[in-house]
Amino acid sequence: TLTIGVLALQGAFIEHIHALNTLRGVEHISDVVEVRTKKELDRVDALIIPGGESTAIALIAERCGILEDLREFVLTKPTWGTCAGLILLAKNAIHTKKGGQQLLNALPVTVSRNQFGRQVDSFTIKLSSQCLDAVSERSATGTAEPFEYVFIRAPAIVSVDDPEVQPLVQLPPGHGQTEASEHGLLVAVKYRNMLGTSFHPELTNDARWHRYFVRMALTRDSREPVPVGMPA
Ligand code: GLN
Repeated sequence: TLTIGVLALQGAFIEHIHALNTLRGVEHISDVVEVRTKKELDRVDALIIPGGESTAIALIAERCGILEDLREFVLTKPTWGTCAGLILLAKNAIHTKKGGQQLLNALPVTVSRNQFGRQVDSFTIKLSSQCLDAVSERSATGTAEPFEYVFIRAPAIVSVDDPEVQPLVQLPPGHGQTEASEHGLLVAVKYRNMLGTSFHPELTNDARWHRYFVRMALTRDSREPVPVGMPA
């Protein structure tokens, strides 16, 4: 079973903890912990870096002396960055704070901060996502319910910089795009032990993305794939 940590320096960490707690007893989660120190980081098998303000999270992490430990952790252990967490996880970011900002430099994508505009431009959209099939209950017709995606001053993945990055969710064209394009923006990717999503899955009552991450963490807790069906 897994001890899952949520980086709790700033942002929406409580909501992730609630979402994970709803899965206790259903998924193989033994403990859910807030991570602020290296000692706490050492205890966890997998980590969620929440949404919030990527510049603030990086700054606090640096001041707490945990930034380098995080950099090391995310290279091998299952890590999920949501929104600001995705920005931190990325190797490259554009539209960053003037003077630049610290990143964990791990996920080989380029993210564009605040791609959808300001707080008032926040939006939600229901989309069917094939990647959630395995963690969804099916309706009579065999289809999974669409997931409600919440975007709040969200980043988008504007380029994939390694062929191993798997695109998971793409928006319909138009959202967050100033020029006409036949392809919508990419908002969820998987790469080795990392999951990166632009949206806030912890702000809905639908824990399927959390399930997806738990399953991913169970089957791959390092760079080397571990066989599926590990004992609880
Ligand atoms: N705009 C924020 C940032 O750049 C991210 C917003 C969010 O996490 N909801 O860090």
